Amino acid sequence: MAEGRPSNRKVLVLPGDGIGPEIMGEVLRVVDFFEKRRIASFEVSEDVVGGAALDTLGTPIGEETMRRAMESDAVLFGAVGGPKWDALPFDKRPELGILRLRKEMDLFANLRPAVVFEALAEASSLKRELVAGLDLMIVRELTGGIYFGEPRGIETLPDGSRRGVNTEVYSEAEIERVLRVGFELARKRGRRLTEVDKANVMESGRLWREVAERVAKDYSDVTLNFMYADNCAMQLVRAPKQFDVVVTSNLFGDILSDCAAMLTGSLGMLPSASLGAPDASGRRRALYEPVHGSAPDIAGRGLANPLAAILSFAMMLRYSFDMSEEADLVELSVRRALKSGARTADLAAARGSPLSTRAMGERILSELEKAA
Ligand code: NAD
Repeated sequence: MAEGRPSNRKVLVLPGDGIGPEIMGEVLRVVDFFEKRRIASFEVSEDVVGGAALDTLGTPIGEETMRRAMESDAVLFGAVGGPKWDALPFDKRPELGILRLRKEMDLFANLRPAVVFEALAEASSLKRELVAGLDLMIVRELTGGIYFGEPRGIETLPDGSRRGVNTEVYSEAEIERVLRVGFELARKRGRRLTEVDKANVMESGRLWREVAERVAKDYSDVTLNFMYADNCAMQLVRAPKQFDVVVTSNLFGDILSDCAAMLTGSLGMLPSASLGAPDASGRRRALYEPVHGSAPDIAGRGLANPLAAILSFAMMLRYSFDMSEEADLVELSVRRALKSGARTADLAAARGSPLSTRAMGERILSELEKAA
């Protein structure tokens, strides 16, 4: 492991709103554990974002916070939003905090793993045999495509009727950089990459395929195949274990990653990473966050499942700091805690009374103690 390495890992923690501070509290206890056991150390600083930033700074994310995010090696993000800020005008919504971070940090590759923990295979909406052992990764392009393409808008035609326009647009460079993230990941996993598009009806999809074929020449150890997005949606619920890494555009990735997420059964278990381009020294900007939101319905009651946030921390170890052994340790502890029956209320409570956020954090720490 990374014992003895200097502490030059700058991590900015942004807990945000609702259950954000509760789940991030448990992540920070794991960080403390790493420090105390001298497994790894981090230069952690904390700041406000979302509603918490609106309340204190009058903006969803302050300039100083943005600066610190840009200078950090990784951002650990909780969640933002809640009814308190729902009525604010669009330019004051808490969600703008995360949108601005993604945009200014140029986080173009969104990694969404869908892993079914053995102990939770029953929680999936699919049959156990279809999902047990599932471990796939969806890489969604996050900063281009139809959500940003021009022209866009709603226009009024000469006859008075209206027309809505959005444009799917991708440059070769945008396609190539996200494909490379996919190929690199596949190389470290099962060496299979599926590029998903609608090349049968969209020219941009044809370009994705051409670029993928060219880039694949640099990754002869990875098997590349192509799939249409509609077929991929079908295959994800028919036989999800056929996939290793899937790379796709912003729009298809948005839909397919939610579909894959549900194979695993619970929102409280899903981590994510968003990565930028590597600079000359190989360092890339990165943000790690649970897939779920701020869950205002359970906030402040100790009911939140902290595992998605803890697994996001494991992704940070793996992808920002190349600490795969330490990431394995965290994931193993989650697996063992679940196997021993640890469940928060969102995960089937049939096995006795559910654990609080804090108690689940304790179980992870005790598994870490045993395994480290
Ligand atoms: P949500 O993900 O917050 O909650 C959906 C449901 O899942 C709720 O019933 C909630 O209690 C439950 N849930 C979510 N996370 C959980 C956890 N860790 N443990 C146990 N249960 C959990 O989605 P929503 O209700 O649609 O949105 C609530 C707020 O969160 C909104 O303001 C929304 O804009 C915001 N949001 C923020 C982000 C983000 O910060 N990236 C993402 C999605 C939604």
